Amino acid sequence: MAPKEPPIIGLLLGRLWLFVSTCGVAACVALGWHIYSDPSLLSQNPVGVRISLILCVLFGTPACLYGIMSALRAGERQRRLRRAARELAGLRRQLTDQERSRLLQRARMDELATLREVAYIVNRESEFSLIAEKVLELLTGLLEPLQACIFVIDEPNNLLKPFALYADGKVKTGARLRASGLRAFSLDEFEHRSVICGVRDGEFHATVPLKADDETLGGLLVVFPRDARSEAELLAEFNERWRDFLLELSQHVSLAVKTKHLQAQVLLDGLTHLYTKAHFTDQIEGHVDFARRHKEPFALILADIDHFKKVNDTYGHAAGDEVLKGVATAIRRSLRKYDSGYRTGGEELAVLLPRTDLARAAKIAERLRNRVQNGTFASGDSARVKVTASFGVAQHRGDEPSEDIFERCDKNLYAAKRTGRNRVVAAIKRSSKAKEQDA
Ligand code: GH3
Ligand code: MG
Ligand code: MG
Repeated sequence: MAPKEPPIIGLLLGRLWLFVSTCGVAACVALGWHIYSDPSLLSQNPVGVRISLILCVLFGTPACLYGIMSALRAGERQRRLRRAARELAGLRRQLTDQERSRLLQRARMDELATLREVAYIVNRESEFSLIAEKVLELLTGLLEPLQACIFVIDEPNNLLKPFALYADGKVKTGARLRASGLRAFSLDEFEHRSVICGVRDGEFHATVPLKADDETLGGLLVVFPRDARSEAELLAEFNERWRDFLLELSQHVSLAVKTKHLQAQVLLDGLTHLYTKAHFTDQIEGHVDFARRHKEPFALILADIDHFKKVNDTYGHAAGDEVLKGVATAIRRSLRKYDSGYRTGGEELAVLLPRTDLARAAKIAERLRNRVQNGTFASGDSARVKVTASFGVAQHRGDEPSEDIFERCDKNLYAAKRTGRNRVVAAIKRSSKAKEQDA
């Protein structure tokens, strides 16, 4: 409510009173001065002096009262102003606190929305590469880091290998990720700590483990820009702002890594790390179906190690295992991105080649044959073993079911064995009788 304005007449009277009483005080002072400089005045005109004195006191007293009241009022006003200033400062503080908590609340809501979305993706998607890509996109949208990377455990050597990397505004996997030069690191680094933080190569790195049932299956690295702040300041900010969020996020991603891990355990053969026979049966159906519907070429390679029994007999079964593993690894590493390798039997391997015709598949089989022939394979005890393998190749025809292409390919493999081994057979010359039967 606005304060009431004093009436104008009151103001004028107040001013008049002030004027008259000031004159009174002035007259009183002047009279006092006169009496002081000439005390004989008192005896010369005592009545006049007394009347003047009374008049001075009469008019001067209100001035004094006015002065005292004004001083009191000014003091009161000052106090009120100080109180108002204090209240204003308190309100301002309250406002900035409110603003801060509003900002923090909004940041927390963004974090929760990101976590919800990550959980949704982890539940909905079955392919880990897709999950990793989307998680990195969501994460970097919120944290705006320089880099972020998902590492996944590579079991044979207990290393955490980069799986998907966000850098320069893009998510990189496969060859582009390898070209980034990001190195794998040892699992032992997570042995005692849940989060590893610190300045490395001039930037602030934070790595959170991806754990499932107390088993470390991967890591999530985030690289923040360092600017002019000290390591301690960056660490404090990270702990306050991002630590809990990244730990929560890592729980969702861990679930996806665990699923990938389990899938791999189910689908991959433990010795050769090629896919299993069951997965082969499943996949070949899918490829045949796709080739049929889209009129796309599709090829199959079957391989069998030559005289493998002899390897076992010479070096022992365990050494045979090592050689088989070496051959499978050589073949796996020579495959193109969309081709997939399987262990379909003891020392029998298969490769599915989508969108590939017979000539191209034969060339690929020849390359694999060369790799095996030129490789020497460890067999334990530092002995190096040389082996060869025979290959059969076939291309899918028309509407034939998967059994037919498999059978043709197996016949070609058998022909490769029969005609001397260590060779590729892509098309068997058919007898005129067989041609007649086909016609
Ligand atoms: P071929 O050139 O005709 O293929 O001769 P081969 O000796 O390779 O063929 P055969 O089918 O007679 O023998 C296959 C051998 O492979 C017999 C078996 O002991 C061995 N083998 C199969 N699976 C494994 C395995 O997992 N580990 C080891 N060490 N040997 C295996
Ligand atoms: Mg064999
Ligand atoms: Mg065999």
